[in-house]
Amino acid sequence: MRFDLRQLGRKGSGTLRDEHVDRTFQAAELQSGAAADEAYRVVAPVHLVMDVHKDAEAYRVSGRVTTRLQLECGRCLEAFEIPVDSPFELRYVPAPIATGSEGDEREVNEEDLTTAYYREESIDLGELMHEQFVLALPMKPLCSDACQGLCPHCGTNLNKGACDCKPVWTDPRLGALEGLLKGNKE
Ligand SMILES: [Zn+2]
Ligand SMILES: [Zn+2]
Repeated sequence: MRFDLRQLGRKGSGTLRDEHVDRTFQAAELQSGAAADEAYRVVAPVHLVMDVHKDAEAYRVSGRVTTRLQLECGRCLEAFEIPVDSPFELRYVPAPIATGSEGDEREVNEEDLTTAYYREESIDLGELMHEQFVLALPMKPLCSDACQGLCPHCGTNLNKGACDCKPVWTDPRLGALEGLLKGNKE
């Protein structure tokens, strides 16, 4: 799942400097690598459209990725889906040569363009799409703003029905505080 940059900017007359990419990937193709550890699952084909423009040693890539992701609700733990339709604007520069020392990675922002690295004369499209998905994820994934979550006692999904637990829930920190106050009195 890589885009070969060598087809761009060949020396000689009639140099090709721009390339239009329009590809569709099946969800299963994106479930490996970096994406396998993530809090999302790709559940629809991924449509990637982008233009790659060669600019000396760098490549400007602007495009859009659309698909649907499945997430887990932070309150009730049920799966739900969100649509993704993310435009992106990236600048790819050659990856720095590994020196063996850690902590050399730096984030460079120039003209609001996020800088990414390409290796072996190609762009890793799986990584590109993965990064767009991560950016599209909500801070707090919720199946709905009104999600009732789970009962802290019995685990019943309160969106699906009530349980028999008492609605009063004492914050354990308050309990500890009460104990402390009692201790002081005695
Ligand atoms: Zn929920
Ligand atoms: Zn309950």
